[in-house]
Amino acid sequence: MTQPVVIAIDGTSASGKSTNARRVARALGYVYVDTGAMYRTLAWYCLARRIDIHDPKALATALRRWKTSLTCVDGEVRLLVDGYYPQQEIRTAETSAAVPHVAAVPKVRDWMVKHQRACVRFGNLVMEGRDIGTNVFPETDLKFYLDATLDERTRRRTADGLAENLAARDQRDSQRAKAPLMVPLGAKVINNSRLTSDQTTALILEAVRQRSAQAP
Ligand code: C5P
Repeated sequence: MTQPVVIAIDGTSASGKSTNARRVARALGYVYVDTGAMYRTLAWYCLARRIDIHDPKALATALRRWKTSLTCVDGEVRLLVDGYYPQQEIRTAETSAAVPHVAAVPKVRDWMVKHQRACVRFGNLVMEGRDIGTNVFPETDLKFYLDATLDERTRRRTADGLAENLAARDQRDSQRAKAPLMVPLGAKVINNSRLTSDQTTALILEAVRQRSAQAP
């Protein structure tokens, strides 16, 4: 049986990962996986239950106890908790501020990576995050790293009505000991500060086509 294809899209906060990963997935008929949403779901779960996000043991206990399932709806993977999909709740400023703390804990990352790898059961994937090309699917040939200037990324977040210190979040993500944010070996780096989403998506799709044409 042929292995599912995985397109890994990593990058800084508000660098256009979600928009482009979703578009690439639609264009190719692949399943879209937002791994940031999975980390956000754990952060939301802990905040809602007053679990100390700075206590790795408390987080490990939470991971043993929470009842989750992965499902694919309209070509997108969702992490459900007790059958519930916290779509809005995971996007609050409070959750955004909490998530890098949760994501720095090795046991949390182990849990997430195991479940992210399990998504291949849904088919070919476009998976976005911070460590997909370095850690979750390091063997894929299709790796992308998106970035833009801090000013441009802040402008995008503000236009979405969200005020956030992106530099602080990126710093935490880049400096953690386990699976920090970095450019994966062999990744195509796209700085899209001056590109439209259409142009960024087109660059990714063109690179995927070229790689596929070269594949044995
Ligand atoms: O992509 P998004 O901004 O939703 O990610 C939220 C946070 O989840 C990131 O800032 C990071 O702390 C964490 N994350 C991670 N590894 C991933 C995806 C997200 O550490 N693969």
